[in-house]
Amino acid sequence: MNCRKVTTLIIDYLSATLDPQTRAVCNTHLYDCRDCVLFLETYRKSVEALRSLPSKEISLETRNRIRRFLEKRITQPARAC
Ligand SMILES: [Zn+2]
Repeated sequence: MNCRKVTTLIIDYLSATLDPQTRAVCNTHLYDCRDCVLFLETYRKSVEALRSLPSKEISLETRNRIRRFLEKRITQPARAC
C-alpha cells in the first residue's frame, strides 16, 4: 500500500464500503503516514462542508471533482512513503 493507492481508496474508506482486509491495510499505512492522515482529514472536512450545503446529496460529479482536486495535491507528497 502506498500513498497513491490510499488516496484512490479514501472515499470508500470514509463511506465504510471498503472490504475489511483493504481497510486494515489502509489503517496500517495511515498509522505510519502523516501525509495520508492529513489528506484523509482534508477530504473528510471537504465532505462535511459539502454536506452542510442545502442540497442533500453530493453528486457524483462533485465527488469526482473533489477527489481529483485532492489527488492533485497529494501527487507530490512532502515525503515518499
Ligand atoms: Zn501515505
